[in-house]
Amino acid sequence: HTSKLPNVGTTIFTVMSQLAAKENAINLSQGFPNFPSDPKLIEMVQQALRENYNQYAPMPGAMILREAIAEKMEYLYQKKYCPETEVVVTVGATEAIYTIISAFVRPNDEVIIFTPAYDCYAPAVEVHGGKVVPIQLKGKEFEMDWNEVRSKINSKTKLMIINTPHNPSGTVLSKADMLELASILENTNIILLSDEVYEHIVFDGEKHQSAALFPKLAERTFITASFGKTFHNTGWRIGYCVAPKELMNEFKKVHQFNVFSVHHPTQIAIGKYLKIPENYLQLPAFFQEKRDFFLNAIKDSRFTWKPSQGTYFQVLSYEHITDELDTEFAKRLTREHKIASIPLSVFNTNKEDHKLLRFCFAKTEKTLADAAEILNKV
Ligand code: PMP
Ligand code: GLN
Repeated sequence: HTSKLPNVGTTIFTVMSQLAAKENAINLSQGFPNFPSDPKLIEMVQQALRENYNQYAPMPGAMILREAIAEKMEYLYQKKYCPETEVVVTVGATEAIYTIISAFVRPNDEVIIFTPAYDCYAPAVEVHGGKVVPIQLKGKEFEMDWNEVRSKINSKTKLMIINTPHNPSGTVLSKADMLELASILENTNIILLSDEVYEHIVFDGEKHQSAALFPKLAERTFITASFGKTFHNTGWRIGYCVAPKELMNEFKKVHQFNVFSVHHPTQIAIGKYLKIPENYLQLPAFFQEKRDFFLNAIKDSRFTWKPSQGTYFQVLSYEHITDELDTEFAKRLTREHKIASIPLSVFNTNKEDHKLLRFCFAKTEKTLADAAEILNKV
């Protein structure tokens, strides 16, 4: 039988993490922290286990967590989502993204994505018979070309996927970008999927421009988010999405027969923890310190960069070091120099290669210092 996804191999995150392990290299490739989650949060999970939250959670998620999510959305973005009907807890943002696509994309529907794009979007569209319409962000600064966006929209466009702060580039969309997008989508039926898993990781005093801040966008938008990214526990696989009720009704039809509901004790714990705003308000400063430590430590290296504006990734250019393809150079750095990163070209549909590698700085200072020592000798 023929494959529904003939061009899909193993995700680059698994490939590079496995190579890092095999080569005993420092792993700054796949994005996950190497420091522990808050012990208070761990204790809350243990408490939930003891209190016997060990049976099925409600299908859309534990109420305490849905309420906490709605409170946070109102607190940060002044947007009210109804915890009963407009919030669903998912198996990481990954399940939310897949389920949105599954619930809405029919064969031959077009889905606009911006490349370099996180690698779970396109296969989910293709497995449902949809057509991915990629728009390349321009040059090394990953600029949006809104005129090109206008030109790619037509009556077949069902969904557009944006991601801010952006993985892998570390750029963020501005208020002007979001207003431009709202005006482009006005008077269309296009659904927006706004992947905001790094909403709490924005630097240099900038404010995250959530789609929730813009009423004309919010009315057509699913926002997806990830507690793995927010609370340093990517292995727990807890994420969520919010959307207006009519959209969410369709989402739930798929979610209930895909996973039904999500790991219960962690939801109870995260619900309590999320109700304390300080637990996420401290994140920008926490990660900015790591970004600055890392960049300062490699300031004499031959790499060049623009500081990450958001996410916990820093893109480095090696144009002054070698002409190798980024995929080749990333592997050689891992084998010979014992440091693993992610080549950016794999996220471009046309494999456009700007000689850029992505490094994850969600690591202890010790790890970042060891990594810098290596990078300074490359
Ligand atoms: N979107 C982006 C942009 C990501 O970087 C990731 C990885 N954290 C996800 C979605 C998936 O998040 P999760 O681990 O919660 O499934
Ligand atoms: N989001 C993580 C990254 O960008 C990877 C998550 C995964 O491996 N599924 O590195």
